[in-house]
Amino acid sequence: MTSQRTRDRLVERLRDKGITDERVLEVMRTTPRHLFIDEALAHRAYEDSSLPISQGQTISQPYIVAKMTELLLQPRVPDFVLEVGTGSGYQSAVLSRLVPKVYTVERISALLDKARQVHREIGLRNIYSKHSDGSWGWPENGPYPAIMVTAAPEKAPDSLLQQLAVGGRMVIPVGSLSGDQQLKLITRVSATDYEERTLDAVRFVPLLDGSVR
Ligand code: SAH
Repeated sequence: MTSQRTRDRLVERLRDKGITDERVLEVMRTTPRHLFIDEALAHRAYEDSSLPISQGQTISQPYIVAKMTELLLQPRVPDFVLEVGTGSGYQSAVLSRLVPKVYTVERISALLDKARQVHREIGLRNIYSKHSDGSWGWPENGPYPAIMVTAAPEKAPDSLLQQLAVGGRMVIPVGSLSGDQQLKLITRVSATDYEERTLDAVRFVPLLDGSVR
């Protein structure tokens, strides 16, 4: 179920759905997604669907991971990236193989511990993580040329907009949990101006306040 053939099939699916960046497709093909989910669900790891992880959270759908990653690699690969919502650690693993340095923040420490363990196991050493409410970003390392938010707020948090470097890009799902969410690509064009593009309709868990064990 976790064979190379199954993974190749997933990549073909991603291509069919419009992912064109070969760097992203190669990383999707070779990143062991089954290690980021419970063993009981591992046989579904290379289906193009989101799956439950613990604590009522989900690992994002591979297509969405690929799409958001592809968007952040344009027009050039950023030197570093901030991810909000580490969750299983799968998205940060994918990013870490394409971007020199990944910062990631998670509000549930039990999830973060697990993600760190998998990153260690598979030898990813360029991921720096912090247990905190990621709506505040991680100001010490900013401003960021790229920010990826993997939980949905009602609107993009001001602190994150401020921590985006001029010329930088943020991909973020925005909307309510019950209603529609849209994936947005926000570019900071100057100190005071942001440009926003609305992309796919998506479904993410909500961005919540505060941090918990
Ligand atoms: N990128 C993850 C997706 C996980 S789901 C993956 O590849 O698996 C979204 C995650 O965002 C959840 O783990 C949730 O706990 C976390 N989250 C929600 N609100 C947050 C906040 N304010 N700060 C940091 N993490 C948050």
